[in-house]
Amino acid sequence: MRPRKAQPFFGRHPWVRDSGIDKVIGKVEDGDVVELISDKDRFIAYGLINRNSHLRVRLYSWDPEAKLDHAFWRSRLERAIQMRRELGMLREDSGCRLVYSEADGLSGLVVEYFAGHLVIQITSLGMYKQLEQIVALLEDLLQPKSISLRGEAGILKLEGLEIEPRVVSGEVPAEPIELVENDLRYEVGLSEGQKTGFYLDQRDNRRVAANIIPAGSKVLDMFCYSGGFALNAAKHAQASHVHGVDGSGPAISAAERNAERNQLTNVTFEKADCFDYLKARVDAGDQYDAIVLDPPKFTKSRRTIDEALRAYFHINRHAAQLLRPGGILVTCSCSGNVSRDEFQMMLLGVSQKSGRDFRILEQRGAAPDHPVSATCLESEYLKCFIASVG
Ligand code: SAH
Repeated sequence: MRPRKAQPFFGRHPWVRDSGIDKVIGKVEDGDVVELISDKDRFIAYGLINRNSHLRVRLYSWDPEAKLDHAFWRSRLERAIQMRRELGMLREDSGCRLVYSEADGLSGLVVEYFAGHLVIQITSLGMYKQLEQIVALLEDLLQPKSISLRGEAGILKLEGLEIEPRVVSGEVPAEPIELVENDLRYEVGLSEGQKTGFYLDQRDNRRVAANIIPAGSKVLDMFCYSGGFALNAAKHAQASHVHGVDGSGPAISAAERNAERNQLTNVTFEKADCFDYLKARVDAGDQYDAIVLDPPKFTKSRRTIDEALRAYFHINRHAAQLLRPGGILVTCSCSGNVSRDEFQMMLLGVSQKSGRDFRILEQRGAAPDHPVSATCLESEYLKCFIASVG
């Protein structure tokens, strides 16, 4: 490390950028294990290097005795799995995030569990080089029915990495499998071409929102995907009617099948652009008792933060206009680059501009199988505020 650059890494932050590194000693290939040492020659941590990435070294072990060998990866995976097991989340018929990258000390690796099947997402070259080992360990620790691999194109490009989605172990059913969450059944497509997936991070927020939404409500679920919030409101809040809207055709079809699967007749879905849809409802003078806003990431970088905040402002403003006095707003942001404070300031702006009083009832994050690392706060991304709009 360069002088005076090592402090955050002694403090266990896992991302070493190029600017902090003085030199690389010895012959190393991208993806290799390296030892991070201070300018005074003190050991800091073991990590994996990738000169193609702006995250030049990702750190995993701060213990000089704990090298990044088979036993190390095994114990990290065991610890991640054990925590979910103790949280009661490893159930045969349900889903959870088994490994969440930095938050589980495994930067670049996400593993999700869907009723006995595993889906691995790799976002770093170093982790990709460990793939075979990780697959073998997961097989050994969990005996999953299948393991498949997915890549997130955007991040992979930053890492100079290409990953062909494929099945790496067992057999993936051609038909969607069923997942139970909050007493509701969902189809989840695991095979190539289905790729419906499921957002596990909103599990508890869906349930809490349904607890707060009064019985008999008319509810609008914007960016509904396969119907998570909508179905919880329809079943657990006993809404009089829920309407879910999403821009994706396959998501809407899955949502409709999910409603049927749960024999819910008080919920309908529609494919539409949510920005247009909200505006049309405002123009028509419609009113709702509760509205859910769970849009996709509006920004992937700090550079476009203002645009993202404007987009959040825009949809939240429209939602406020559509809510009856005392109506419930469930508003989310999964943009890691937008901080909790910034999101709250955006809501303050909406309250001021619309002359409506926002009373915040809940300020939530992701479910506990998506923990936040205290030494890598970048692992916090999901904000979910539930407010009564006066
Ligand atoms: N609320 C969902 C998750 C939403 S993910 C749940 O609980 O599972 C974000 C969704 O926004 C995706 O399904 C995506 O298809 C949809 N989306 C993105 N941009 C959109 C737009 N402009 N209009 C409508 N839907 C959009």
